[in-house]
Parts: sequence; C-alpha cells; structure tokens
Amino acid sequence: MSVKKLRKCFDDLEVLKDISTEVYEGEVVVILGPSGSGKSTFLRCLNRLEDATAGTIIVDDVDITAKKVNMNKVRENIGMVFQHFNLFNNMNVLDNLMLAPLELKKADKKEAEERARAMLKRVDLLEKADAYPSQLSGGQKQRVAIARALCMQPDIMLFDEPTSALDPEMVGEVLAVMKQLAADGMTMIIVTHEIGFAREVADRVIFMDGGYIVEEGTPKEVILNPKEPRTISFLNKVL
Ligand code: ADP
Ligand code: MG
Repeated sequence: MSVKKLRKCFDDLEVLKDISTEVYEGEVVVILGPSGSGKSTFLRCLNRLEDATAGTIIVDDVDITAKKVNMNKVRENIGMVFQHFNLFNNMNVLDNLMLAPLELKKADKKEAEERARAMLKRVDLLEKADAYPSQLSGGQKQRVAIARALCMQPDIMLFDEPTSALDPEMVGEVLAVMKQLAADGMTMIIVTHEIGFAREVADRVIFMDGGYIVEEGTPKEVILNPKEPRTISFLNKVL
C-alpha cells in the first residue's frame, strides 16, 4: 500500500494535512499519537469509510481514492476492527461471521460456514459458534470481530484501538490473537496505546500529531530513541 500526499478535511477543519507512507506486504505498522491527531481518520480513509480530500492510496496497483473504484471490493480486501466490536447482537457468532461473505461475496453457504469455523478456531473461540454476543466477554467479542474480518480473506487488516474499550484483564487475549496474526504474515496497521505491544510486534512505528506523520521508524528508533520533541513528550505521558 502506498499513500501519497493524503489530505482529509471536514468542512473547514483539515484533519490530515500531508500523509505519505508505504506499507509493505507482511509488515506490521503501529500508529501512535495523541487523541485528535487524525489516526482514526487515516485508517478510515484507507478503506474508504471516509473519502480523501486529496492525495492517492494505491493498493495492488489500484488507486482506491478514485471515484469509480468498487468500494465493496476495497473493503473486502481491507478488513477493519474497531474499538467497539460492532457485532450484530441479534445473530449468533457463526451468523455474524457468515453474513458479509454470503451477502457481499455471494459465497457458498457450506464454504462460508467452514471458513467461519476455521477463523473461530484461529481466535480460539470455536466453542462459541452458537453463542450470542451478549453471552460473551468484551475480549471474546473482540476476538469474534477479528475472526469476522478474517472471514473476508483480506490482504490487509486495520485495527483502531482494538483493546481500548476492554477491561484490563482482557487486553492480553486480544493482543495475543493479533500477535499470532502478525506471525502468520498478515499485513497490519494498528492504532493502539499499547506501547509494549508496539515494541514487541511492530516492524515500524508511526507517530502522528496534528494531521502529520511527525516521526516514523523501527520501535527501537521511535519508542526507545525518539528524536522529535512531540514524540518525546507524548511517550513521557503514556509510558
Ligand atoms: P484520533 O483517532 O487520532 O483521536 P480522529 O481521526 O478521530 O483522531 O479525529 C481527528 C480530528 O478530526 C478531531 O478533531 C475530530 O474531532 C475530527 N473529526 C473526526 N471525524 C470527523 C467528522 N466526521 N466530522 C468532523 N470532524 C471530524
Ligand atoms: Mg481514534
């Protein structure tokens, strides 16, 4: 994925000012930054939940900011996991996982169910296939949300503060699933305040502030030896 000179305005408010970066296949990129710095807006532009105001986002040689691009295809290819799991509470876990493949991909029902069970196994929740979201803990719901995104067989997974809404004792199980996904070679872009996770799992860390990438590099560079005053000040607050 190649992002060039991305800008995003909401009316008069310029939220992303000039974002350029590359994300390589199999890379795990963690985005850090204070609240309001544009992290969520950036992720939302990457799968076209928001339209970019200017700039290009190239994925597999396709400019997904183009007006005529097939947005369903873009979203099939780029999975997203949110802070609030957004599961359908009136459906059991298996139906939550099968919904998008059946509706958007016109998948075969038997195949969709097999894949759903395989993805549940991957997040270690196969025994919850028939449960309803209300019967699950927050950590289990988020693992189901990850499995649901994986059912679309995306090439890239975006995570927007996936553990921020969880009780502390459930953070670890979700990070463990994400760590396994990274080890399996998934390309991942993760907004998180979990600095320990970033240090351990990220290939690259991006620090954003005020709609810009202020600093990027390896976890060692950005987290252990930050150069920019704004990065240093942010890390002093969260570490
Ligand atoms: P972060 O995720 O880093 O906290 P956001 O991307 O959510 O930052 O928000 C960046 C800025 O954009 C904030 O000032 C926020 O109020 C504003 N913003 C986000 N979404 C919208 C929207 N749909 N309409 C207007 N302003 C928005
Ligand atoms: Mg956000």
